[in-house]
Amino acid sequence: MTVLDRDVTSPEGGAEESWEQWQRPGVNQFRHPHIMLPAAYQLLSTEVPEAVAELQALGATTHNMLAGAYDLPAIGGRLEGDERFDTLAARRPVIEAALGNTAAKTAGITVRRGVAVAGLLSDGGANRPRVTGVRTRDGESIAADLVIDAGGRNSPVATCSSTSALPPPLSLGTTPDSWLTAATSGRRTVRCPRSDRGRWNTTTASR
Ligand SMILES: Cc1cc2nc3c(=O)[nH]c(=O)nc-3n(C[C@H](O)[C@H](O)[C@H](O)COP(=O)(O)OP(=O)(O)OC[C@H]3O[C@@H](n4cnc5c(N)ncnc54)[C@H](O)[C@@H]3O)c2cc1C
Repeated sequence: MTVLDRDVTSPEGGAEESWEQWQRPGVNQFRHPHIMLPAAYQLLSTEVPEAVAELQALGATTHNMLAGAYDLPAIGGRLEGDERFDTLAARRPVIEAALGNTAAKTAGITVRRGVAVAGLLSDGGANRPRVTGVRTRDGESIAADLVIDAGGRNSPVATCSSTSALPPPLSLGTTPDSWLTAATSGRRTVRCPRSDRGRWNTTTASR
């Protein structure tokens, strides 16, 4: 597996160095604290326990998402099954450093930083073209049996498709009826429409 990232630098040193020095312009929310979604934590614990060990070694703290509410009458004490709300929290550079370190130590994974994807390669089939790899901004062609787009919400894949004779990708969850938008930098109205109950708006503000 080859992982390409347009950001150039790798994590160096420990948690403090990652927080202070690591530059990741490709991720806007890089200098934020993050709470890993419990499902992601369960998946990592089961499938990549060494990543959880690396996270804890760098100072990530584990906790239960419900623990702070056990004193509330409506919640009550801990119940059987609540372990599915276990997760961990850390500063985002720390989470990324731990995952990056784990990937770097895993046989069969090559992480190439400073490589930006500029287009998709396809076999040019007239009716159903098949993606066969990617083209980088520097003009390198990298063949692949499977291409996974992990480019985030501003992924260039939709543009890539239009320049490589591929049909546009399916867009999931972006219709007004199914999508929740939120922002923690600046201020934005969040609309969570529900066709059966009408439209309701929430305004969030934070820095
Ligand atoms: C302020 C804020 C706080 C958040 N807090 C939490 C939280 O506490 N817990 C939580 O679970 N989630 C949180 N999220 C959401 C979480 O950060 C995102 O869901 C997550 O980062 C999405 O991951 P991703 O891998 O899809 O995309 P990203 O994290 O955006 O990663 C995309 C990657 O693709 C690379 N890339 C982009 N284009 C190219 C290209 N052309 N070629 C090569 N590489 C490219 C980028 O450099 C980057 O490394 C938060 C989001 C925000 C904005």
